[in-house]
Amino acid sequence: MLEKREFYINGAWVAPLDGKDFDVIDPSTEEVCAVISLGGKADTDAAVAAASAALPGFMYSDPAERLALVKRILEVYTARADDMAKAISMEMGAPIDMALSSQVSSGTWHIENFIRDFDKIEFIAPLGDHAPEDRIIKEAVGVCALITPWNWPMNQVTLKVIPALLAGCTMVLKPSEIAPLSSVVWAEILHEAGVPAGVFNMVNGDGPGVGTQLSGHPDVDMVSFTGSSRAGILISKNAAETLKKVHLELGGKGANIIFADADEKAVVRGARHCFNNTGQSCNAPTRMLVERSIYDKAVEIAAETAEKTRVATAHDSGSHIGPVVSEAQFDKIQGLIQKGIDEGARLVAGGLGRPEGLNRGYFVRPTVFADVNNQMTIAREEIFGPVLSIIPFEGEEEALAIANDTPYGLTNYVQSQDGAKRNRMARKLRSGMVEMNGKSRGRGAPFGGMKASGIGREGGVWGVEDFLEVKAVAGWSNDA
Ligand code: NAD
Repeated sequence: MLEKREFYINGAWVAPLDGKDFDVIDPSTEEVCAVISLGGKADTDAAVAAASAALPGFMYSDPAERLALVKRILEVYTARADDMAKAISMEMGAPIDMALSSQVSSGTWHIENFIRDFDKIEFIAPLGDHAPEDRIIKEAVGVCALITPWNWPMNQVTLKVIPALLAGCTMVLKPSEIAPLSSVVWAEILHEAGVPAGVFNMVNGDGPGVGTQLSGHPDVDMVSFTGSSRAGILISKNAAETLKKVHLELGGKGANIIFADADEKAVVRGARHCFNNTGQSCNAPTRMLVERSIYDKAVEIAAETAEKTRVATAHDSGSHIGPVVSEAQFDKIQGLIQKGIDEGARLVAGGLGRPEGLNRGYFVRPTVFADVNNQMTIAREEIFGPVLSIIPFEGEEEALAIANDTPYGLTNYVQSQDGAKRNRMARKLRSGMVEMNGKSRGRGAPFGGMKASGIGREGGVWGVEDFLEVKAVAGWSNDA
C-alpha cells in the first residue's frame, strides 16, 4: 500500500489544511492500495492563491522559455514512464502492458504534438494591410482549474496542463479521486522539470468538495473539465456565477457505420475498439450500425470477438482487458446489461456477472447485444463498460439518421471502400470527429465534441488557443 500523499502547492509538497482520508481501491483486487487526503476549502484557496500570485510573472514570460520548459517535462515524463504505468494500472485497472503502451504513451503523443505545433501560434499578429496600426495579441486566460477523470488519466492531464503552460496560464489540477496516483507522479515530474513555483498546483479532492470550490472560485478565470455530462452541467451552472470560461469534454455514444462494402476486418476492429480500455473511453464505438445484407455475419463475428477477448487482472502482462474502475461502475454496467435484456435486445455474447474464474475484482464479461433499436436504453446511455450494441440499417440515409439520433456528438466511425460515400457521411455526421476505415486522427488534430459531448477542442494548436484570450489593439507602434 502506498503512503498517504499530500498536495503540491507553490512548488512544494504540503500537508492538507482541511483534509479527510479517502481509500484508493485497486479494481483488480478490491483492496485498498493507497490512502489520499481529500482537500477542503482552505486547501483550494491556498492552491488558487499560489496560482494567482504566480500569474503576472508567468503570463508575460517569453513563449520560447515556456516551450523549453515543456521539452524538459517531456524528457522527465519519458524517464518516469514505468512508474507512471504502474500507478495508472493500479488505480484504474488498465493492464500493465497497455498502461505503458497506450495510457502513458497517449501523454507522450500529446506533449510531442503541442511542441511540434507551438510555432504556429502567433502571439502578436497584424490584422491586415488595411489596418497597419492594428495588432491581435493572444495572452493567457489566467488562473485555470483543470478537473480530470479516471479513464485515461495522463491523456487528459497532458491535454490540459501542457497547453495551459504553453499559453502562460497558471493552474490548479484536481485529478479524479478514484485515480489520483498518476497525478502524484505527474506533479513529481513537473517539479523535477523545474516548473516555477505556483505555476502548477495539485490538490486532491472530490466533485462536491474541491471540484465545486474550484468551479465557483472568484479568482479562477477558466475551468477545463473532462468527465460525465452530469458533472459538466453542474460545473457550467456553478461557473456561471463568476462568468468563467468553461471548456467541457464530456461523454459519447459513437456510431460505427459498417456498410456492406467494408473491408473484411471492419467488424473485428470495431468490436475490439469498443472493448479497449474495458469500454471506458468517451470515444468508444459502442453502437455498431451494420448494413442489413451483412448483418447476420457481422453479429456472428462480433460475438466471436467478445468471446475471444480475455479478461484478467491488470497486474499480469499480456493483451487482455482489465477490470472496470470501481464497484459503482461495475454495478452501473450490470444494471444496463439487465436493462438491455429486459427491453428485448438479443444477447449474443457475455452478459451478467463476472467472467468465469474471476470472483473478485470489478471484472465484466465482454458483452454483445444484437437487434438493438436506437431507442433502447443501451443505445442511448453511455455505458462505460465492454458492451457493444448492434443495430441493423438499410442504406446511407437510415444509417445517418440513426447515427445522429443521440444527444451526443463526439466521434463517429465509417467503414466502406467507396470513397465518395465515406466523404458524404463525414460531412453529415454531427460529431466533432469522424474516423474512417480504421484510420486514426493525425498529429495535432483537434479532439472534442458537439452537442452533449462538450464545448471546445483539445490538442495541437486548438488546444493551446483554448487557454488564450484574444486582444484587439489599435494604435500599435513599430517602436520597440
Ligand atoms: P465524474 O464526471 O463524476 O468525475 C470526473 C471528474 O469530475 C472527477 O475529478 C470528479 O471528482 C469531478 N467532479 C465530479 N462532480 C463534480 C462537480 N459537481 N464539480 C466539479 N467537479 C466534479 O465522472 P465519474 O463519476 O468518475 O464517472 C461517471 C460517468 O462519467 C461514467 O460512467 C462515464 O459515463 C462518464 N465519464 C466520462 C468520461 C469522458 O471522458 N467523457 C470520463 C469519465 C467518466
